[in-house]
Amino acid sequence: MAAEADLLVLGAGPAGLAAAWRAARRGQSVLVLERAENTGGMAASFEIAGMSVDYGSHRLSPATPPHILADLRALLGADLQTRYRTGRILLSDRWVTYPFKPRELAKALPRAPRTRVALDALSMLRPKAPDAAEASYADLMRAGFGPTLYQLVYEPYARKLWGVSGDELDADQARRKAGAPTAFAALTRAVRAGLAGESLAYLYPRRGFGQLTETLADAAITAGARIALGTTVERIELHEQGATVTAARSESHSAAAERAGRRSAEPWTNGGTVRAKHVFSTLPLPQLARLLVPSAPYEALAAASELRFRALLLVYAVHEGGRWSGHDVHYLPSPAAPVTRISEPANHRINPDDPSDRSVICFEIPCQVGDELWSADERQLADLVQRTVSACALPPLRLAWVQVKRLRHGYPVHNAGYRDHLAALESWIDTLPRLTTLGRQGLFTPDNVHHALDMGYQAADALGSDAFDHERWQASRREFTAHLIET
Ligand SMILES: Cc1cc2nc3c(=O)[nH]c(=O)nc-3n(C[C@H](O)[C@H](O)[C@H](O)COP(=O)(O)OP(=O)(O)OC[C@H]3O[C@@H](n4cnc5c(N)ncnc54)[C@H](O)[C@@H]3O)c2cc1C
Repeated sequence: MAAEADLLVLGAGPAGLAAAWRAARRGQSVLVLERAENTGGMAASFEIAGMSVDYGSHRLSPATPPHILADLRALLGADLQTRYRTGRILLSDRWVTYPFKPRELAKALPRAPRTRVALDALSMLRPKAPDAAEASYADLMRAGFGPTLYQLVYEPYARKLWGVSGDELDADQARRKAGAPTAFAALTRAVRAGLAGESLAYLYPRRGFGQLTETLADAAITAGARIALGTTVERIELHEQGATVTAARSESHSAAAERAGRRSAEPWTNGGTVRAKHVFSTLPLPQLARLLVPSAPYEALAAASELRFRALLLVYAVHEGGRWSGHDVHYLPSPAAPVTRISEPANHRINPDDPSDRSVICFEIPCQVGDELWSADERQLADLVQRTVSACALPPLRLAWVQVKRLRHGYPVHNAGYRDHLAALESWIDTLPRLTTLGRQGLFTPDNVHHALDMGYQAADALGSDAFDHERWQASRREFTAHLIET
């Protein structure tokens, strides 16, 4: 017999969990289907060598909408700690504080680039805005930060992160970045926030970033939502009254769930079908397009196949001998190494339960699914992280072992032309009244966790007991385009 729900949520990342909790609190019957054996999506945590670690460096922004932050504070209590950024960036061969401190940056730059940065800054006092319609990421970032800083930091970083040069990226990729579009505006904001003592603040849960999503999942279950883990959505059939979704339970699920003592939604024992009045999908948009029945028109499928994601390798190095560095994150824009960021999760929090005789360091390596990096084995990746550490004058790594995670959908790539493809796909999805797509993958946007939570709340708020308020949701979608991404 098919399971039934008012609302079926696909994916138990922050967006799906927030929507499930909010809708369940309003009395809707909610079922969440999640492919992984745990909740949290990319914002989950897991244990390596007795240390809770995240999927790359994760921090919760103080810009989280106040009503959502109030809910999170109520759920997490004192475990939601206020922390201060201690990151740094490698420029040429010197480490400087990041986000930048102007005076330190000026001192750290070698004489020639320093003079050029100063001249750039003078010329930017009367900035010429690039033609918005024609502008690329490179145009906007050059106009905002000056050509020298762009060349030194943002161009090589873009190439590593998204796999293409800044000229091939849409201006949206720059517009959405906190700190852009002008260095002057960023500086003013930083100084103002600095005076208020807030510039470097962020929030982080004591037991790892994933404590936030685990607590959210528990709250959703307490409110009556059911969550089925190890359950992959394979088909979404839409009809007038709602949708029938087919999913498969992974074979290893029962054993894995039992071992971990994790939640599961009964009567969802072996996969099967669910009937629901409405579906919220947080699945990657191109994947969603391929799962739908009746199938998408040719134009929409063709557009879906043009939307690109950058994959991400996360190499976790177990370091013996206590804390490795005093920083939470090290940024590496240089093209010499494929690593973009190195983070030490224990430095994101104060947790007396963290092991004191070792640390785990996470190396973020963007790549393409199937390329040489993606296919590298643990020994090759251990060599790579050791080479990176010595080339960048980082503290020596007393490496016990490495563990690797691979994310296929690390970053949506807003390359030139993406807007047309996305619009073509969305204009078809918008004709499907019983389906709403949201979240970072669902809206093909590089959003942060607080944005994903906001989307979940706003989608649930648009869901009445009988119908989904499409106009209200479209207004929310317009709001989301103003989100500023923090890195
Ligand atoms: C390296 C890195 C660092 C980041 N750092 C930060 C940070 O510091 N601060 C911050 O706020 N944000 C950060 N983010 C962004 C943050 O992780 C995302 O904004 C957030 O996880 C998006 O939530 P979501 O629910 O939209 O999607 P996701 O977390 O991607 O969740 C989608 C879920 O859908 C599931 N799914 C996919 N396909 C299927 C299927 N067929 N069937 C069933 N389930 C399926 C997936 O398993 C996943 O659990 C970072 C992201 C990355 C990659």
